[in-house]
Amino acid sequence: MSEIRYVSTRGGTAEAGFEEILLGGLAPGGGLWIPKTWPVFTAQDFRAMQGMTYAEIVARVIEPFVAGWIRPDDLLSLARQAYARFDHPAVIPMVQTADNDWLLELFHGPTFAFKDLALQLLARLMDRALESRGERVTVLGATSGDTGSAAIAGCAGRRNMDIFILFPKGRVSEIQRRQMTTVVAGNVHCIAIEGTFDDCQSLVKAMFNDTAFATSRRLTAVNSINWTRIMAQTAYCVAAAVRLGAPDRKVAFSIPSANFGACLAAWCAVRMGLGVDRLVVATNANDILHRFFETGHYTPLDVVATLSPSMDIQISSNFERLLFELYDRDGSSIERLMGRLPRLGSFDVTARALMRARSIISSHRLDDDGIIAEMRRMRREHGVVVDPHTACGTAAARAVGIDAGVPVIMHAQAHPAKFPEAVATALGEPPKSPAKLSRIRGLTENMTTLPNDVDVVQGYVRDNTEADG
Ligand SMILES: *Cc1c(COP(=O)(O)O)cnc(C)c1O
Repeated sequence: MSEIRYVSTRGGTAEAGFEEILLGGLAPGGGLWIPKTWPVFTAQDFRAMQGMTYAEIVARVIEPFVAGWIRPDDLLSLARQAYARFDHPAVIPMVQTADNDWLLELFHGPTFAFKDLALQLLARLMDRALESRGERVTVLGATSGDTGSAAIAGCAGRRNMDIFILFPKGRVSEIQRRQMTTVVAGNVHCIAIEGTFDDCQSLVKAMFNDTAFATSRRLTAVNSINWTRIMAQTAYCVAAAVRLGAPDRKVAFSIPSANFGACLAAWCAVRMGLGVDRLVVATNANDILHRFFETGHYTPLDVVATLSPSMDIQISSNFERLLFELYDRDGSSIERLMGRLPRLGSFDVTARALMRARSIISSHRLDDDGIIAEMRRMRREHGVVVDPHTACGTAAARAVGIDAGVPVIMHAQAHPAKFPEAVATALGEPPKSPAKLSRIRGLTENMTTLPNDVDVVQGYVRDNTEADG
């Protein structure tokens, strides 16, 4: 299979190979890496996946993106390891809630949210790249909740990585904190900062901007702009569709969205030949994506706190990859649009680009009252307890009106027990907690509390990593 090269969404930079985009962050110039061409699967290729295990489907779907870098059997073995820790034999089981409605449970990984599906694989691919280069990196990030724990679960015990996650002391939920601090591994460092989430992000930014420091510690991020996360999520879209009859039947997806990672992954599946009737983008009250698909204006507003905190953002980082596609992969147009954001605070797309998006994407917004009503409806009518993020997606699937003959795959993003307060508010009682999640209440926590002071935090990172060379 020939190797796929990667290009920047803002054009103007040299193409890169897989290893470079795996280990690097943004493309030079601030764009995002995206495959230069889409591998296309035939109906026969999809049909061949029908009897495969989940790890086999993942390896098959991402093989073209990593061809030339890793042998197919090594890839399969990494995928098997990545998903061996999931607590369901199907890895991503589906629960039927109506004739043609399916909840795709993406929360059976170590931290009970869908980010495990990408980060378990990403960390293993990175570790392998580093091993063969004889290098070591320091993963650094700030978290207000889900991402930090999934990144830690992926990186814990990997030989060539240290990971430092900063979170605001006293401002993440107890479950989210314990999911980070109870991981026992010498390369994991949880830092409670005496400050807010924004303070944590500023500290991280300052350390990345200190070039001498960033280079000597080989700082790296595992945030959702990394292409590897997208391709791992494309695999679960394909796996779910194949189980419901693809390629001989079209499906629809309904996806609670923030940084647009999961949605972009479904879009990629379409480009790879999967028959998709509709992609539904579901937002909470932070509705920048919904407003965009309604009007073609992209205008970030202030973030408001909701019952679905993992979707409380206004700048949607992966959205730039969709724009690149909508503009026929013309990097200079994207460069121009993104340049308007800091200057003018918004941009508009052409009627043609909007029409293209809407030919397959529909969107819907659900505020907190709607989330509560939807969680109640799902329990009353279907007997299932969904988390507040998932509720945005199940409501959206109904609201946009999908052809009755099309199976709808609704992404269940997190286990409801991760959000006990929201569930108790909606349903009058907290959700049942899986034993593995309850157990972390009794485990010892390991964390260091540091002041909101970049010199102190940087010193801590320095003292706990080996310098390069
Ligand atoms: C991260 C997250 C989201 C948002 O996903 P994006 O890929 O950023 O669009 C939604 N729900 C939950 C539970 C999450 O953890």
